[in-house]
Amino acid sequence: MAVLASPLTSERDQNFLIATSAGPLAVLKIANALEDPAMLVAQQAVMAHVARGFALCPRVIPTRSGAGTVTAAAPGGKSHTLWAVSFLPGVPLGTVRRRPPALLEDLGGRIGELTRALDGFDHPAIHRDFYWDLANARRYIDEYRPLLSGERDRECAAAIDTLVARFDRETAPLLPHLRRGAVHNDPNDYNILVEPGDPFTGREAHITGFVDLGDMVHSFLVADLAIAAAYMAIGSDDPLSAAAHLVRGYAARAPLPDAEIAALFGLIAMRLCASACIAAHQRRERPDNVYLDISQDAVRRTLPVFAATPFRLAEAVFRDAAGLEPVAASAAVRAWLGAHTGDFAPVLGVDPRLVPSLVLDLSPASPLLHGDVRENEEPALTARLFAAMRKAKAPLAIGRYDEARLIYSAPAFAPARGSGGERRAIHIGLDLFAEAGTPVYAPLDGTVHALANNDAPQDYGAVIVLRHETGDGTPFHTLYGHLSRASLDGLRAGATVRRGDRIATLGTPAENGHWTPHLHLQVITDTLGLDTDFPGVARAAQRAVWRSLSPDPNLIVGLPAERLPAAPTKSENLATRHAHLGANLSIAYQDPVRAVRGWRQHLYDDEGRQYIDAYNNVPHVGHAHPRVVAAAHRQMAVLNTNTRYLNDKLNEYAERLTAMLPDPLSVCYLLNSASEANELALRLSRTHTRARDLIVLEAAYHGNTTSLIDISPYKHAGPGGAGAPDWVHVAPLPDDYRGAYRRGDPEAGRKYAAHVAGIISRLRSQDRSLAGFIAETCPSVGGQIIMPHGYLADVYRHVRAAGGLCIADEVQTGLGRMGTHFWAFEAHGVVPDIVVMGKPLGNGHPMAALVTTPAIAASFANGMEFFSTFGGNTVSCAVGLAVLDVLRDEQLQAHALAVGAQMLDGLRALMARYEVIGDVRGSGLFLGAELVRDRETREPAGPAASFVANRFREAGILLGTDGPHHNVVKIRPPMPFEAADGDRLVETFESILAENFS
Ligand code: PMP
Repeated sequence: MAVLASPLTSERDQNFLIATSAGPLAVLKIANALEDPAMLVAQQAVMAHVARGFALCPRVIPTRSGAGTVTAAAPGGKSHTLWAVSFLPGVPLGTVRRRPPALLEDLGGRIGELTRALDGFDHPAIHRDFYWDLANARRYIDEYRPLLSGERDRECAAAIDTLVARFDRETAPLLPHLRRGAVHNDPNDYNILVEPGDPFTGREAHITGFVDLGDMVHSFLVADLAIAAAYMAIGSDDPLSAAAHLVRGYAARAPLPDAEIAALFGLIAMRLCASACIAAHQRRERPDNVYLDISQDAVRRTLPVFAATPFRLAEAVFRDAAGLEPVAASAAVRAWLGAHTGDFAPVLGVDPRLVPSLVLDLSPASPLLHGDVRENEEPALTARLFAAMRKAKAPLAIGRYDEARLIYSAPAFAPARGSGGERRAIHIGLDLFAEAGTPVYAPLDGTVHALANNDAPQDYGAVIVLRHETGDGTPFHTLYGHLSRASLDGLRAGATVRRGDRIATLGTPAENGHWTPHLHLQVITDTLGLDTDFPGVARAAQRAVWRSLSPDPNLIVGLPAERLPAAPTKSENLATRHAHLGANLSIAYQDPVRAVRGWRQHLYDDEGRQYIDAYNNVPHVGHAHPRVVAAAHRQMAVLNTNTRYLNDKLNEYAERLTAMLPDPLSVCYLLNSASEANELALRLSRTHTRARDLIVLEAAYHGNTTSLIDISPYKHAGPGGAGAPDWVHVAPLPDDYRGAYRRGDPEAGRKYAAHVAGIISRLRSQDRSLAGFIAETCPSVGGQIIMPHGYLADVYRHVRAAGGLCIADEVQTGLGRMGTHFWAFEAHGVVPDIVVMGKPLGNGHPMAALVTTPAIAASFANGMEFFSTFGGNTVSCAVGLAVLDVLRDEQLQAHALAVGAQMLDGLRALMARYEVIGDVRGSGLFLGAELVRDRETREPAGPAASFVANRFREAGILLGTDGPHHNVVKIRPPMPFEAADGDRLVETFESILAENFS
């Protein structure tokens, strides 16, 4: 068997992979001639040491005589040391772009194991004064920092100065307390091996090894964690969270003492600062090396994010990740406040425990708030809140602590750099709403710690921070925001304040940052050095951390707990659902979305995250469209009854709806669901034709009733299905991408239709007659299929010749979604005998309709009464009319055409670059991208489509998958979906593809 040697990239040694056709054998290493021989011995010794309990480092492969190395003469009288180590599978982590939390956690865990495996190892060679020893970082930063003097390095240099000053103040004193020992010292992302995830199988990435122990040194034990975290931070749009994932994994596998957690962020920062400074030095030595610059770009971007992160915030985040109370003193402060709640003075003079007070819901689910952010600003919101208080005869209203606030999803509150795009939305104070000018009192003794007038819009306005101590001397603070400017007059830092002292008055909107007059009261267990800039809202991802930094101010205010009930958590919600709702009621996404509000093309979850809804066609004219809401509300308050009484709304809706359809479709039946409408279509076709048999398409879905499951191969031919009954005949899906006849074939439509003709002639030969043919005009569950030209016209001809009726299920495609036409069948030049419509008709209000010809309706009126209790009720008619009005007035069909065309262009451009997209198709806002494992074989890539949908969900865009192989990414948003949303969708798709499929 041939043995091949291929070079591996390496910084210092020369490495070769030795392999046969059967697979890799070993890695041959030619040590750098400058390498300290003692260090080589140490490397071999450490590999043997580590291998006792840890399989993720290479092992030395001895020579036949048992030696660890051999010496080979090189030309010119030099000699080189050669040695071999075992091969570890995987690719460098540096080549893997997607680093999900689970992979980072795995990395942290493996580093924890490595630290433990290194325990007890020592060698004189690793006690060295080494450039890259984290303990020396400060020295090299001082030495080379002056080289970062150019304009381009200005922000980076300022960040380094900030970080170094903080390190000296906050981290350096901890260093003597850190454990020391042998560390790998260079777990950079090219020395970490990973088995990458596979979106085609759903396999997640995991760490497979650590190589290159040549940088080993005797240093801080936590250095390996810090260095790996530094490398993971620079590749991340949320560096602190990336580092925290490592800490979570590490702490689960290895001890991580408090002092090391406290020092960790400073050490990570110093590694980054050293990297920037040493790179500046290397740039000066080798000005032509462009790679140095490129690799430094990410460091340059990350350093300002680090500089904007208080060290003790990072410590709290890391402690939380390690399973500890984020702020160690918080528990003591909470306990002390809890024990003294009744003793504190009322903070507003009026005691909310004694006067009627109203607890306001300011969460994304609140009916007090509007989907339109502009309606939630001053003065509209003030008017609404004060009206609610007047109605409740409450001089005081409470805004809750630890509540996600819809207000912060407004554009004015953009996410901070380095927060992974997450906005701060969790309110971590307690609000007390009362008239401007209401006096504010100190609830307990303290001193004035800081005061300021933060008069930027949306800030605190005038703000005061008091300092207090618990009985045992643990310091903590209280913050009073949105005060009047006059409150600061005569107050100075350091002044003593007694319980019950008047310290301020509430500000007017003009002076309190443009908010409704209220006191923002917050308890602070660690000011993080931010004092009057201490945030009042936090990222949901750091919720537990901020609850520890800012415990519940109700510990001071003392409202009874039952006044502030906690909403069920997401996991409680899931548990109740599992207990009381059928198990086959499926939930979208690995991480379910808990949607609490919709507005136009957006959904909001319970933590205030905004999603672009690219999937829901039911809220056709947009979630919570005010005209539809108003129509329902108005009619509901006047009359809601059934079709047994004469009603102009019913007639008006019937007229308006039938007017949208071509002749002779002029008689309508109004129902509650498309299932009910399709069920009726079955009855109509049977009564009219006196036949029973029906032709349906492969993979079709028409509804959830017993008969509709019978005519829906998507269900009856799938899991749990019992197959088609004898009266149902399944024709091939006219799929010109995957089916028997493809897009290039001009006869494809005729050929697919011939299968329907074939079924008909078989029925004829069996003496069976045909009731009809039913199909979605663009099969959606079938995979967003656009039927080939001529297909439907041919099928209708065959069906009618056999006496059957043609039923168009326009539930998904009707009402302008396709952009080119109001109904999808119009694009095919056909007029069905029965049109079934549903989902979008009521914009979420349960409505469906069936429109047919007078002749078919006459056959159906055979003496048996037809009645649907809710179908055509007055409220539904009012809602349906409003939907039609909005469609017309907002010209949503033309809008869908334009936005869809632009998105199609973007998707096609992606298809040109990424093999995994086998096809892109659709029209208007009804689009699909079909994913394949292989363009030639068109092998469907179902798990990849589901992977993509889940990544989209993480990126804040909701879409789904469909098709018989579940491999079609389905885009079917509410009609107000904008061109910018389409651009974001295409860009997000591109980054998902680039990270996972290139
Ligand atoms: N027909 C089609 C094409 C559908 O997509 C659906 C719902 N997904 C239905 C009928 C049944 O609608 P409903 O759930 O409103 O009864």
